[in-house]
Amino acid sequence: MYIKVSEIQRQGLDVVATRGKAWIPRVLEGMNPYPLRTCRMLSAGLHLALEGRDIFADGSFVAEGDASCDRCNEPVKVTMEKEFQAVLVPRDRVPAGAANVELHEEDLDIGFYDGAGVEVNDIFWEQVALALPVKLLCAEECRGVCPSCGGNLNRGECGCPGETRTTPFDILKKP
Ligand SMILES: [Zn+2]
Ligand SMILES: [Zn+2]
Repeated sequence: MYIKVSEIQRQGLDVVATRGKAWIPRVLEGMNPYPLRTCRMLSAGLHLALEGRDIFADGSFVAEGDASCDRCNEPVKVTMEKEFQAVLVPRDRVPAGAANVELHEEDLDIGFYDGAGVEVNDIFWEQVALALPVKLLCAEECRGVCPSCGGNLNRGECGCPGETRTTPFDILKKP
């Protein structure tokens, strides 16, 4: 959903109040949610305000995704919940070649827009990307799978002889 700068009034623009909620379930369509397999938006809010030509975005979301445990490969459901503040600066405001210009306080996420308007999907894609988990475990104490038979060790011992498991001490056993 595209919002033109001219639509943002002096008091700001509450995107849900003016555009409804129909866009929310589709806002992540087409996004690559890696390392999740799928990702969908459950609820979202976004307020846009102008300061000069910079757009301040104040938002929140709850998103949910599916993945597999890194250790045992069992399905894991991930919920991401975040509040964010970001500022979008018109691309032409920053002189070409001037890298890392200090524009705003450091705790704000800084992005760019074309000067005419902002794509709401882009704002949420970026924020969801920042919230994606790095490590996916079904449980902190997940025991993973047996390297010999592939059995899920969370469901109990598989019965393989312990010596077949690789440990950091294996190297010491070799002649
Ligand atoms: Zn697991
Ligand atoms: Zn086994």
